[in-house]
Amino acid sequence: MQNVIVLFGKPGAGKGTRLSEFLKTTDKKFNILSVGNMLRQARADNTELGLKAARYMDSGELLPDHIINGIVVDGMKTSTETVISDGFPRSVGQAQAMLDAGIIPIVIDFHVEDDLVIQRARDRIVCENRACGETYTINDFKPPIVEGICDKCGSHLVRRSDDDPEVVKNRLEVYREQTIPVLELMERYGAKVYTIDNSDSKKSMIEFTKLMNG
Ligand code: AMP
Repeated sequence: MQNVIVLFGKPGAGKGTRLSEFLKTTDKKFNILSVGNMLRQARADNTELGLKAARYMDSGELLPDHIINGIVVDGMKTSTETVISDGFPRSVGQAQAMLDAGIIPIVIDFHVEDDLVIQRARDRIVCENRACGETYTINDFKPPIVEGICDKCGSHLVRRSDDDPEVVKNRLEVYREQTIPVLELMERYGAKVYTIDNSDSKKSMIEFTKLMNG
């Protein structure tokens, strides 16, 4: 089984942004598992999973574990490359399914204050091309070179529907209630946890790169 690196932290903590920046600097091959991107793709394709996902995503709730666990844990078990998991596990049931499969991950826990999450969600724009999915923050470390256009693939940049301030507040509440206990559970099973303060993008990028290359 391959190593699994879990990117942990509040929704909107900047995990995906740090990851996409890091991937530009490395030749190493990783298997990136992003449940959020997978679900957004399923919605764009109007698949059964996408149709089920819509109401959860639009209100900031988590999809039930039985829908998510099989897809992600199987992907982790069968991967031939180191897995980077962005957005899983997010509930105790998900973490338990992963740990029961014998996967003890390395965890990178990104810290930011709620106010910054709310501000970043307000400033976030994403590539409308689901196959690309690049993320930008207009007032932060990572604006696009040409306003409204994706640097990577040239498609238009749009806002995410779940970046609405009310939905963001609910996602933070869900994180506190359902996701925070996951960290303790993974540690109890021997997962090594590294913490990064992600309020300063440049500093945290240096730390993240060091960890990923270490
Ligand atoms: P994200 O892009 O990671 O913030 O995820 C967007 C939305 O997808 C979340 O608000 C949830 O509705 C859903 N989602 C993402 N990851 C998970 C997960 N591990 N379990 C359940 N739902 C998820």
